[in-house]
Amino acid sequence: MTAHLISARLQNRSVYSRRSFATDASSGSPNPDPNSTSSTPPPRRRTLFRRLFIFSKYTLYLSLTSVVGLVVLTSFLFIHDLFTYTSRHVDRVPMNPLALHLERGGPKNLPIARVLVDDDEDEDMHRIARDKPRLVVVGGGWGAMGVLQTLHLGDYHVTVVSNETFTTFTPLLPSAAVGTIQIRSLIEPIRKIVARLRGHFVNGKAVDVDFGQRLIEIECVGNGERVYIPYDKLIIAVGSTSSTHGVPGLEHCFQLKTIADAQAIRRRVMDNFEIASLPTTSPSERKRLLSFVVCGGGPTGVETAAEIFDFCQEDIMNYFPKICREEVSIHVIQSRGHILNTYSEAISQYAEDKFKRDGVNLITNARVAAVTPEHVIYTSKNEDGKMEQHTIPTNFTLWSTGIAMNPFAKRVTQLLPNQFHKKAIEVDAHLRVKGTPQGTVYAVGDAATIETSLVSHFLEFVEEADQNKDGKIDFDEWEVMVNRIKQKIPMAEDHVSKAREIFTMYDVNGDNALELNELVKLLEDLGNKITSLPATAQVASQQGKYIGKKLNKLARRMERQEQEQKMETTQPSAGSATANTSSESSRNLILIPDEAISAPFRYFHLGSLAYIGNAAVFDLGKYSFMGGLAAMYAWRSVYWNEQVSVRTRALLMIDWIVRGVWGRDLSRL
Ligand SMILES: Cc1cc2nc3c(=O)[nH]c(=O)nc-3n(C[C@H](O)[C@H](O)[C@H](O)COP(=O)(O)OP(=O)(O)OC[C@H]3O[C@@H](n4cnc5c(N)ncnc54)[C@H](O)[C@@H]3O)c2cc1C
Repeated sequence: MTAHLISARLQNRSVYSRRSFATDASSGSPNPDPNSTSSTPPPRRRTLFRRLFIFSKYTLYLSLTSVVGLVVLTSFLFIHDLFTYTSRHVDRVPMNPLALHLERGGPKNLPIARVLVDDDEDEDMHRIARDKPRLVVVGGGWGAMGVLQTLHLGDYHVTVVSNETFTTFTPLLPSAAVGTIQIRSLIEPIRKIVARLRGHFVNGKAVDVDFGQRLIEIECVGNGERVYIPYDKLIIAVGSTSSTHGVPGLEHCFQLKTIADAQAIRRRVMDNFEIASLPTTSPSERKRLLSFVVCGGGPTGVETAAEIFDFCQEDIMNYFPKICREEVSIHVIQSRGHILNTYSEAISQYAEDKFKRDGVNLITNARVAAVTPEHVIYTSKNEDGKMEQHTIPTNFTLWSTGIAMNPFAKRVTQLLPNQFHKKAIEVDAHLRVKGTPQGTVYAVGDAATIETSLVSHFLEFVEEADQNKDGKIDFDEWEVMVNRIKQKIPMAEDHVSKAREIFTMYDVNGDNALELNELVKLLEDLGNKITSLPATAQVASQQGKYIGKKLNKLARRMERQEQEQKMETTQPSAGSATANTSSESSRNLILIPDEAISAPFRYFHLGSLAYIGNAAVFDLGKYSFMGGLAAMYAWRSVYWNEQVSVRTRALLMIDWIVRGVWGRDLSRL
């Protein structure tokens, strides 16, 4: 039996060795066994068979793994659904009676929501509500998201107040306005974001505030009722509104700041094309309907014009009568000499050349005088330097010419004595609202502007620097003052770097010291050179994150202080300790100055980008990058990466694929 097996194996081995020899032959080496050649197919056919075999094998593997993958995925979805769609029910939710019967008070004797309906829902919520300082964030945009994404769970009793229930990814609003991406891909519910912090959301509009009693007045969305929400720390992140420049007829314009604006624009654009395609529409009316006017050559105006152009090229061309595409006209009216004038000159030029090639009508150095339901009237200088008035018939005008103060921000500045800025709430280098009680109110984003005036700190600077009290500042004292200026107004840092040069320049009488009048002039001039930060998502987000980190540090510091205090004092009775914890925390919070826990806010500019129609431009400070498809994909990647949630990332990706394969949805909803 054993001998039989051995002989069989030997025979097999000889078969294997022949096969390998034959394979050698097929690869080009001579075959020493003529018999083996006669019994196998010619080498080329054998290679083909072998390739076919390998191909079939891998196709089979791929199909099998796909089937297994699908089965696993479907099972996972079924199992997930099994748990999602359970008939869970809640019984007897614990609730503080004070949440149902709000006490009244405050300057207007309104209900005060000291306890919220979900404060006692579970042990964690109850502990946070009882022990932690109250942090109220007003607004749900970039600034607010920066704060919420940075805060640590359990350090604060967080309440977000916003008139919209979602946060919006504003940079892609122009794409949503023509249906390149769906509206839903740009928004994330605030409740989902605040849930990470076991926080609360109140759908309301902040209308007033009492800084003394630390109460913010909210007008609830839906029923319009007013209520106070108390705070220990308040963060104002209400953004801005569009500036009007006093132009009459702006009620006939569209704006692009919110999701509702994007939806309205999309409807109007679709209506215009549909009506222009009707057999009853006259040629002149068709021209008017297909004329799109954008007032403002900044990034929002330029991107919207580019998106409308893309829409015409890619979808109108294919699915609407060709006359519609032919008669479309897009006009961009810009008051300055160039569009994208805050970007580098090369970028501005590139965008202008691209628009010229695309047939977009750029009207520079022009001012819009009025807007009517059927026209835009603007003035510009003719070749002789005389002002001329022009009229563009249109049924779509977008107004995008800068920002103005949000009504709540305006109310805040009216309540405070030292707020003079016309467009935003003035904050110091720690983002504290100037004039409010120390460490209680901060403002971030478009609603805030960091003070740049040095002269308003004149007395303070002199008092600290004039060490010999002779009423003059010598060079050593000036160096002390320079350090103080850098701490107080970090944005002045670059302007005071050449301390000796500045000192000599302003020491007019050459006595090697700055007299007070010389110093006033110096501080005034320096202040005028400092430029405010731009109203961008980048600034708002960095400021929000800065505040979030500061509050985290504050919470750690507070915890340490409380532990030290507990160790120092004799053990109080359990009841009184619990009752006082929250108020003690709040008091301690306010006693710790911001300077003790964080450096002033510093902005790091990461670059600016804009979409200009199947092309994009990047202004990275020293370098500029602009181009077609590659730049567009880089632009998309940046925005994809900046999304607040994985859900919106997935939706955005799907939208871009769907548009690429099937084009935009042309339904008018
Ligand atoms: C179309 C468009 C494109 C843009 N593109 C870019 C870009 O590419 N890059 C860039 O850096 N920046 C861009 N920006 C600018 C950027 O969106 C803003 O600078 C940024 O949104 C400012 O953030 P914020 O938190 O201050 O305000 P916002 O993001 O505007 O948020 C304000 C929030 O406050 C809420 N709110 C308003 N009033 C009240 C109230 N009284 N009570 C309660 N809640 C209130 C609003 O509902 C909103 O949730 C763009 C802006 C627009 C409009």
